[in-house]
Amino acid sequence: MVERGRFAPSPTGELHLGNARTALLSWLWARAAGGSYLLRVEDLDAPRVRPGLAEQQLDELRWLGLDWDGEPVRQSTRADAYDAAIARLGEHVYECFCSRAEIAAASAPHAPSDEGPRYPGTCRALTRAEREERRRIRAPALRLRVPDGAIAFEDELAGPQSFDVQAQVGDFVLRRADGVHAYQLAVVVDDAESRVTQVLRGADLLPSTARQLILYQLLGCPAPRWAHAPLVLSASGERLAKRDRSASLAALRAGGQDPAAVVARLARISGLQPLGSPRELLAGFTLAMVPRAPVRVSEEP
Ligand SMILES: [Zn+2]
Repeated sequence: MVERGRFAPSPTGELHLGNARTALLSWLWARAAGGSYLLRVEDLDAPRVRPGLAEQQLDELRWLGLDWDGEPVRQSTRADAYDAAIARLGEHVYECFCSRAEIAAASAPHAPSDEGPRYPGTCRALTRAEREERRRIRAPALRLRVPDGAIAFEDELAGPQSFDVQAQVGDFVLRRADGVHAYQLAVVVDDAESRVTQVLRGADLLPSTARQLILYQLLGCPAPRWAHAPLVLSASGERLAKRDRSASLAALRAGGQDPAAVVARLARISGLQPLGSPRELLAGFTLAMVPRAPVRVSEEP
């Protein structure tokens, strides 16, 4: 089987060293296996997308020495594909008319997931008449009927994982009431259609993987292998954020930084030889070299 990896930046904030490390490792994982490598622009959240930033991000990846096959896919052009997937999910999808405040009030006290408070299933069993009545007042979101029980999978970096999506998140949103498709759906539809076989991304996305696995199963598509890389922290141990200018690729580049020095720095914090070009790092690369714990960016360039 031909391996296919990918990197999927979101043009809502500048790429920082943590994003660049994810790009480098996902590129190495795919290319070391002789596989292809795809780019996808995750620009679903139109109000937060900064004009011109996607082009800048692609340019920064080229500056680092990364390459990809074919034209990057833009999620903002893919609404029809996402709606087609919702249609294929058929009876697994239902309309939800709850507001955020109603969900918060109805949800039992519980640690909120990345989607907010657990959805308690309020609209799961509305009758046709009830739905028609509510539709006159409010446009519905679409939610997935999530099966009960734990979903287990093996992560290539984080090890064996188990998530009970119904207990922790509940029936999650596929399309918001304003018509915007949810990240969980878009990422599965795009990776399945691009026949991606391996996904390396940041550990902050590990909890969403079980939701995506449910969608792969219901859509009848083979799921990729996942590898969630431990987060890159700032030198002081904080999580890197888009506002950390000192860690942004744009700032490093504008400051006259040599891309080879940036790649060597990323390689060093990733357990690899501090070589200055992605191609030089390919020889002998395996995921086993990558540290399993969060790493800090070094102070020195
Ligand atoms: Zn509802």
